Amino acid sequence: MLARRLRGGLARTREVLNTPVGDLLRGRPTLDESALETLEEALLSADLGPHTAQELIDQLRSHSAEVAAGGPAAMRRMLCEQVRDALEQPGAEPQFVTRPWVTFVVGVNGVGKTTTIGKLARSWIGEGRSVMLVAADTFRAAAAEQLEVWAQRAGAGFHRGPEGSDPAAVLTDGLRSARARGCDAVLVDTAGRLHTRGNLMAELAKMSRVAGREVAGAPHETWLVLDATVGSNGLNQAREFARSGGVTGLVLTKLDGTARGGVALAVVRELKVPIRFVGVGEDVEDLVPFDPAEFAEGLFGE
Ligand code: GDP
Repeated sequence: MLARRLRGGLARTREVLNTPVGDLLRGRPTLDESALETLEEALLSADLGPHTAQELIDQLRSHSAEVAAGGPAAMRRMLCEQVRDALEQPGAEPQFVTRPWVTFVVGVNGVGKTTTIGKLARSWIGEGRSVMLVAADTFRAAAAEQLEVWAQRAGAGFHRGPEGSDPAAVLTDGLRSARARGCDAVLVDTAGRLHTRGNLMAELAKMSRVAGREVAGAPHETWLVLDATVGSNGLNQAREFARSGGVTGLVLTKLDGTARGGVALAVVRELKVPIRFVGVGEDVEDLVPFDPAEFAEGLFGE
């Protein structure tokens, strides 16, 4: 079911990649340089990034006899294996080992933070956990309202402060309230105005300190949300968040709206942080736990 959603979400990217993979060997006894060039162009237009594209091409070149003998199926298999390996990152630490388990969700405005939080809340509640959502983006009233709608839909608790109030103070109150209610998990929606207000990173650091005072070890996770439709152009922003420290996982949203799904490889390579979830639509069900092998299959499968 989830694999099918992922497959659907990657359809546009797969189309870009599959055409040359299929065409390449048809009628060609060997993988010649012009064939490899065509594939490399497709890899680049799917946004896998120049390094990864080059590595994949080198690998095919050095196994060209094997690929020619096995045809497109052998080629797909080889590409899938390499992409899977490139996406593997050291295993995530177990979640929910303290209560409440506090996750910050960060990223620039519009990438899908609030939506992702809503989807996560619904999924965790479905697993029997109690969840509280905290609106720590106090600069956009609409963001808090949207989060409240998601909280109601998902059956999660909700905490917000007055508009324009100190996000750290809102967070403190939210965490106290979550503790008092014995919530299993808290998801914190943070402000994402990276370029309009310079000290966002300082504010996030302050929020981390505040969280740690209220709940031991919090934030236990900080997930950076990235919009796949922006492709590798979003890498600069991602780098900035990652540099500020503490990013433990990535969520790549809007894969369904782009042929640039290969950007997953570029971000993992660049940030060396595992992708935890991918967003493949606007519905509450459209968040899929990230699995490197399934993702690779979604890119190059038939
Ligand atoms: P935020 O500003 O980072 O909190 O972003 P929002 O959660 O408000 O999302 C911005 C827009 O992106 C909304 O219209 C969402 O419905 C949409 N969105 C979020 N995730 C996905 C996704 O995985 N696929 C698609 N197609 N749209 C998404």
